[in-house]
Amino acid sequence: MSSLTQARCPCRGCDKVARNETEVDELFGLRDMGDGTIRVQSYCRECRSLHCKASEPQCN
Ligand SMILES: [Zn+2]
Ligand SMILES: [Zn+2]
Repeated sequence: MSSLTQARCPCRGCDKVARNETEVDELFGLRDMGDGTIRVQSYCRECRSLHCKASEPQCN
């Protein structure tokens, strides 16, 4: 079972948290895996655009 109602960015410089579906959609975005499964993006939109890695944060 996957949760689409909460997410936390793994980036150390960011640590963004979403606590409901709206925040998840706004801050992280959803990914359609192609087989009907919807997953939350692991990194928030900002970190994805900055190409952050957990060991190499670019945002802070
Ligand atoms: Zn982030
Ligand atoms: Zn980041």
